[in-house]
Amino acid sequence: MENKLCIKCDYYLPINQFYKAGNYYQSSCISCYNNLRIDLRKSLAYIRPLRERGFDALAEDKKEQLLELICFKFNYKDISHYTGINYRTLVHWKKMKWIPTYGEYFLNVI
Ligand SMILES: [Zn+2]
Repeated sequence: MENKLCIKCDYYLPINQFYKAGNYYQSSCISCYNNLRIDLRKSLAYIRPLRERGFDALAEDKKEQLLELICFKFNYKDISHYTGINYRTLVHWKKMKWIPTYGEYFLNVI
């Protein structure tokens, strides 16, 4: 049987130790390929950051302004007007509980 060099483990292995991709064999052997897949999955899960979104992505002064307005019981239409944040966006954030209370926020900052 034909042998093929695996670029990962540097072993010449029988060609049946390689996955076939179309007419070609892959450049790493089946066990290296599988390990690579597992590593990749792990590294993707590890690297992928929690993207800051919604409230968390706002500038600090904007967050404070927003929390103050909520704290003073402004309605969301007015808050939208003062902060320039889309009304529906605000309502969505509120629904998703992405907006902390004034107290929660400043407790975390200090
Ligand atoms: Zn290999």
